[in-house]
Amino acid sequence: MSQRPTDNSLENPFQSPVAPSNEYEVRGPGICPYCGQSDFERPVFTHWGGFVGPWLLNHAVCRHCQRGFNAGSGASNLLNIILYQIGSVVLVVAALLICIFYVLPGWGLL
Ligand SMILES: [Zn+2]
Repeated sequence: MSQRPTDNSLENPFQSPVAPSNEYEVRGPGICPYCGQSDFERPVFTHWGGFVGPWLLNHAVCRHCQRGFNAGSGASNLLNIILYQIGSVVLVVAALLICIFYVLPGWGLL
């Protein structure tokens, strides 16, 4: 059984869906650069940064359009996230190389 919409608005039901706007404008700290709303939340955990990344980059997610931005500057965090990811990989590779060439031979394990 299908449900009919309850409101009798005059919107055209055959209108094609409108894609979310890609407009971007830095409006200031704590204001979403995509939609201009200041209603945001601070995620504790993200898939790109775990627990440390969002805290380190002052990351916020807009409750209105669900997009992420920097709460301190009101700008996009995309470049910071990319740099954070590259830095994380470099750090892990450096730690592995140090273990392989210095620590483990010193312990007589390699
Ligand atoms: Zn927004």
